[in-house]
Amino acid sequence: MNAVGIPDEEAGARLLEGLQASRSLIALYDPDDTLWYANDAFLKAFVHSTDNVSFSAIVRSNHAAGVGVNIGASSIDTYIARARARRRAQSHCSYPIELLDGKRLWITETLLPGGWLLCEAADVTALKQAETSLRVSRDVALEASQTDYLTKLPNRRYAFELLKRALLSTQTQMQLLSIALVDLDFFKSINDRFGHEAGDIALCRFAENCRANLRTVDTVARIGGEEFLIICPGVPVQAALDILNRLHNNPIQVHLQFPSVDFSYTFSAGVTQASQGDTVHSLLARADQALYAAKAHGRNSIQIAAGE
Ligand code: GH3
Ligand code: MG
Ligand code: MG
Repeated sequence: MNAVGIPDEEAGARLLEGLQASRSLIALYDPDDTLWYANDAFLKAFVHSTDNVSFSAIVRSNHAAGVGVNIGASSIDTYIARARARRRAQSHCSYPIELLDGKRLWITETLLPGGWLLCEAADVTALKQAETSLRVSRDVALEASQTDYLTKLPNRRYAFELLKRALLSTQTQMQLLSIALVDLDFFKSINDRFGHEAGDIALCRFAENCRANLRTVDTVARIGGEEFLIICPGVPVQAALDILNRLHNNPIQVHLQFPSVDFSYTFSAGVTQASQGDTVHSLLARADQALYAAKAHGRNSIQIAAGE
């Protein structure tokens, strides 16, 4: 008699019927790892021959037939040795596996008295696909939240996060860091003379010019309408000045076909080097003062922060 008053024999028979019809994959192995019971779902996935139904023989015959578990780069002997070492090592054990047909299963093994082992597996293929597509959507959304829609450079928010990280690693590893704040000169007049679309193209050209002339370790980000932050890790202010001069020496030419116009424009920049006591705020404030000095100097100029 079981806990709810049904004779064990009858409950057992009903339970077997239920297990047989279940969509979960269910199997019972004896202490020698020979299969004693498998429902239809388990048989369909794993047991293609009933000649020898020990765990290792099932895995081997599946492998030979190109069905069952995807064992990746392991040899079949290594896979079986690892699986046998894991089986019965704990009272409960859950793990994912991938089948050669691409299905994903979530397996739970329960160690029973005397060394018997109950295996249950659920098909989680649809869940896994949903998880993958959520991850892709999350990555796309994250990238969009960090990227300026026009120039595809890091945007203002992400730029300050990158600067914070660069400053922290500079200060903890006692390395150099220089930055520049860049503002395009008389940009309003470009819009006024050639139209907003021409201004947009000019902004993209500036981003391309930076990508072509900065080192791979440098970062350029668009932090405002026609304002950019350049982060140069590992270099003193003079080297950052050289990097900025490379940009200056490649004047930004814009050629538009409809209507046919050619124009060029310049930029001003303030450069500064981080010191141990700097915060993002103090570093940017110093670069901003130098940029202000560059504008006051008549524009088309790069100034190093006072005192450096
Ligand atoms: P200054 O040399 O003093 O920096 O002069 P400026 O004209 O560059 O500066 P100001 O701040 O007066 O004007 C900036 C202009 O940049 C105004 C705005 O129309 C333009 N701008 C900002 N964002 C964009 C954009 O996304 N596209 C275009 N086409 N223009 C933009
Ligand atoms: Mg500006
Ligand atoms: Mg400007």
